[in-house]
Amino acid sequence: MEVKLRYSEEKGVYLLEGIRVLVLPKGSLETIQNSVNTILGLATKSIFQEVSATVFYSFLSDLIKRKLIKLRGEDKTKIEIFDLFKQLGFGRINEISKDFNYYKINIEGNSNSFLNLITNSPYCFSSAGILTSIYRIVTNKDVEVVEEKCRSTGDSETDLFSISVKESKSQYTYIPSQIFEDKNDNLKSVDIIGDNTDIFVNTIPSEIVPVVYFPYLFSKLRKIIGLGVYGIENQTGKELAKLYEQYNLEIIQEKYKIKGLEIISILNGLGKMEILKTDLGYLMEVDIYNSFNALHIDDAIEKRCFLLDSLLSSLSHRLTGFVLNLSEKECSAINNEVCKFSLN
Ligand SMILES: [Zn+2]
Repeated sequence: MEVKLRYSEEKGVYLLEGIRVLVLPKGSLETIQNSVNTILGLATKSIFQEVSATVFYSFLSDLIKRKLIKLRGEDKTKIEIFDLFKQLGFGRINEISKDFNYYKINIEGNSNSFLNLITNSPYCFSSAGILTSIYRIVTNKDVEVVEEKCRSTGDSETDLFSISVKESKSQYTYIPSQIFEDKNDNLKSVDIIGDNTDIFVNTIPSEIVPVVYFPYLFSKLRKIIGLGVYGIENQTGKELAKLYEQYNLEIIQEKYKIKGLEIISILNGLGKMEILKTDLGYLMEVDIYNSFNALHIDDAIEKRCFLLDSLLSSLSHRLTGFVLNLSEKECSAINNEVCKFSLN
């Protein structure tokens, strides 16, 4: 399938075949994993492997339900799914060998090649999760994915994984995609430019993830470390801002004819932004509709948008010339219509 990415200016969201996604700068999942790792250490592995396996398994199941991916026998389906992940910016997956219930896989240009400096071992947990989701779909069985070599350790050009297929088939958690019925929306097509292993959206090397990745990850972390999850989000927002800082954001501002903070919506589809200013032009309040960060799948009712807050504050100097230290006063996770941020 050829991925069609569209942007709704009205809602400030990106849609991939009607499914809401975030367009993140390449390396974002790795950055998030790194922020979690500084707090949780070894537990990070199982969390990321499980979150990526569950979210992408659900996403692939939804694409199959919507007939965008067709199940046409293992080999053909695999080719189609590998191609999808390349178009999402996760690198080129190749099956090197297949021997009964055992596969060897490599990933060229993996967006998630990560080295744990403390143990000097590879750390590509999101990739392991993604491969788990793919092989659960194509084999219809449980699978175990092990990373054997990683380019982050310098002893391999690509990341190498082995996959063993079990006799069992478990019930997996399913996280429904956020679907937007887009009939009445004026959607703009957005080009995804690809080279051998990378994709570029608005000239920025990108990776595209279903928006539900974040509520699922953060709800999981909240269960483990309680409100400490918001410290991780805060850290993650700063790290994501650093990724964006590397790029020529002015080109994107020019292309969309939008100056200031509002361009952040277009960078990743985090929601629709409206800015209130004083008569003298000073910023008073940032309102976000459809905040990706307010989505949640647990019962806790509280303000949620700590990652978003941190990302906006961290990019503010670059985009407005002022350091804006924002804090969220109202959040749509607590039944408010909109997330409101104002100056501290
Ligand atoms: Zn919020």
